[in-house]
Amino acid sequence: MPATASHNEPLDAVIIGAGLTGLYQLWSLRKLGMRVRVIDAASGVGGTWYWNCYPGARTDSPSNIYQYWFSEELLDEWNWSERYCGHAESERYFNHVADRFDLRKDISFNTRVDAAHWDEATGCWNLRTDQGETVSAQFLITALGPLSAPVVPPFQGHDSFKGRLVHTARWPREGIDLKGQRVGVIGTGATGIQVIQTIAPEVAHLTVFQRTANYAVPMTNPRYDDADRAAIRARYPQTREAIWTTFVGFDEPGETRPYLSLPPEERRATLERLWSDGSLKIWVAGFMEIFFDPVVSEEVSDFVREKIRARIHDPRVADKLVPRDHGFGTRRVPLETGYFEVFNRDNVDLISLHESKIECITPNGIRTSAGEIPLDVIILATGFDAGTGGLTAIDIRGRGGVSLREEWKKEVRTTMGLQIHGYPNLFTTSAPYAPASAFCNAPTCLQHQVQWITDCISHLREHDRHTIEPLAQTEQRWLDHHDELANLTLVAKTKSWYTGGNIEGKHNRLLGYIGGLPAYREACEKVKQQGYEGFELA
Ligand code: NAP
Repeated sequence: MPATASHNEPLDAVIIGAGLTGLYQLWSLRKLGMRVRVIDAASGVGGTWYWNCYPGARTDSPSNIYQYWFSEELLDEWNWSERYCGHAESERYFNHVADRFDLRKDISFNTRVDAAHWDEATGCWNLRTDQGETVSAQFLITALGPLSAPVVPPFQGHDSFKGRLVHTARWPREGIDLKGQRVGVIGTGATGIQVIQTIAPEVAHLTVFQRTANYAVPMTNPRYDDADRAAIRARYPQTREAIWTTFVGFDEPGETRPYLSLPPEERRATLERLWSDGSLKIWVAGFMEIFFDPVVSEEVSDFVREKIRARIHDPRVADKLVPRDHGFGTRRVPLETGYFEVFNRDNVDLISLHESKIECITPNGIRTSAGEIPLDVIILATGFDAGTGGLTAIDIRGRGGVSLREEWKKEVRTTMGLQIHGYPNLFTTSAPYAPASAFCNAPTCLQHQVQWITDCISHLREHDRHTIEPLAQTEQRWLDHHDELANLTLVAKTKSWYTGGNIEGKHNRLLGYIGGLPAYREACEKVKQQGYEGFELA
């Protein structure tokens, strides 16, 4: 760890995570003249884009809104190559940012924070890393990303497998040669879909193990030339404004006409128009009623089901692939490129886990209740302990030595996803009950959170205050407000990582704040304008 971190003198702030959020937070706190260190378990920057280097990884947010807005120079010089950029390009972007703003000198790579304990006497967080160092800092900011703790299901026989078994979020950076291999993919979420559509043509045989069938929208991904980039740049002032005002931080305003007020042919025409955009527009800028009105949900879902079915040759396979048990958009909708056609291929089999269960992993493959499937490689695209898993992996202890991990076993609580009662000077990003944890174009919401945290710290310094912590009643008010909105939605009634339903025994509560980014920003701004009323400053 570089010298500044091993000094006995506390730092002003430690940021855990050198991804999208951590880099911007470092840049922002440096502007305040603070001594800051970022600590990351990875050997490079990029967070999600460092770890998820599986075949086909790509954003579902257009590149013009999957970026930073803090530097005109950066906006001017970076050239996106396509509408939805792939993993390698995203990673290159974050590396460019780290170099451009000389951020690396304050980052300790290959270092995992094991513990962070609040020290009442010194008013500092004391951190311990897996490298044996201890670091103290006045402020602790977690920039872990909502999806950083991979879930490896406890299949019996896991260790007995003689081939290669890998989770997508721990894909080896040198890659895996899948040519000619018999591959099994477990999981058909956004990740599984990308892996499956990418590797199907190159492997000898692919078996897809599907528990829940997913909706997905075909991606239109044109490559950009200089003229496209010039046009996109010319719109940056409007784009920059638009992302703050839309419900989920995209740049497209949503459909405002009530679905049921439209005649059937107009409903259909609108859905067709949204669908043909080849983006997530039909989900995030379409008819909002899909999130709370079962009638509209069913009609729009039927529209999408029809689109899926039309692409699959074998009706029995189509029956397995067409989702029936939840409405379109109540779980995360992925974009796809030729995903459904994969199941028309001779070298691909689809196993519905509703028909035959995975019994165990064997030395030679996977045994289901219908028999053993021989495999050389097993790919777990089985998702994440979202929102909480990154935080509970660290032994965080607040006032009185209270363990966040233990408290969150009973109930996960935050104030606007930014602070937690009992944990002074701890700022969380992409934590539960903010849009950033689930319902937002990540760069929009995370940049907003970084700005709020930076303003808050700046306020403390200007007013000669050393600590900030939300009051218990402030936290409860936010949770009540969050729950009230969440419980109106079909999203909260649908099992997925959005509700914690993908983790056995996890407290079920909608992870992301579903009041929309404008309402969330207003709530955050109000706290600021009222001098952090409802928070204890000391
Ligand atoms: P996910 O959406 O949670 O999907 C995990 C998949 O694994 C699901 O199909 C799940 O089935 C299955 N699964 C989990 N445990 C299983 C078990 N024990 N047996 C059989 N199947 C099991 O995770 P993800 O696909 O990694 O995506 C997570 C999030 O990351 C996305 O929703 C998205 O926000 C983000 N992401 C974004 C992109 C992008 O922007 N393009 C790409 C990848 C990921 P069930 O559905 O039945 O639980």
